[in-house]
Amino acid sequence: NNSIRILGVKVNKVNMDGAYNSFLAFMEKDRVSMIFTPNTEIVMKAQEDQELKDILVDADLVIPDGIGLVYASKLHGLGLSERVTGIGLMDKILKYCNSTKKSIYLFGGKPDVAKEACENIEIEYPNIKIAGFSDGYYKDKDEELKIIDKINEVKPDILFVALGAPKQEKWIYEYRKILNTKVAMGVGGSVDVWAG
Ligand code: UDP
Repeated sequence: NNSIRILGVKVNKVNMDGAYNSFLAFMEKDRVSMIFTPNTEIVMKAQEDQELKDILVDADLVIPDGIGLVYASKLHGLGLSERVTGIGLMDKILKYCNSTKKSIYLFGGKPDVAKEACENIEIEYPNIKIAGFSDGYYKDKDEELKIIDKINEVKPDILFVALGAPKQEKWIYEYRKILNTKVAMGVGGSVDVWAG
């Protein structure tokens, strides 16, 4: 995937179709692919967070989830054609899971939020397998590792992580090698949108 740098932050030069095609390719791989969806605020945060910048460089797909990124690209002739929202790509992935009967796991959000988001996803997409969910307010390492065990037991095809940015990016990056899933995507506030 060809990528550009906006204020030193890697973003892939993709529109929604390109992002979705990358996702489809990730489903064929034998390792965890990481998808992140930075908006302008995250690009600004990354200015003082080299770790976050490095994680985005290593990510498999970084979509421009902010109109500010598209404007910056226009100003500097970098070639981003459109904003690609995380919630939009998540929806395309959910549709795909619905038609192929794939499983998802939702990790993050407040306790009721994770549960309600799953219930609403199930109403909208009844053929999706909800492999499980966990809220994003674990107390310590022990609880965190239990969540990883729970995810790995059910082996979801897709793992959506909503811990807010940059926590979710760092979490996915830290555990990418031991997670039993094909795609791990940081989805932030989208879980609240799904919870309604
Ligand atoms: N969140 C979480 N654990 C945390 C911090 C945040 O599960 O330790 C959840 C929060 O409840 C919300 C989601 O992460 O559902 C996104 O949080 P926020 O709106 O702060 O992040 P943003 O979408 O702005 O990145």
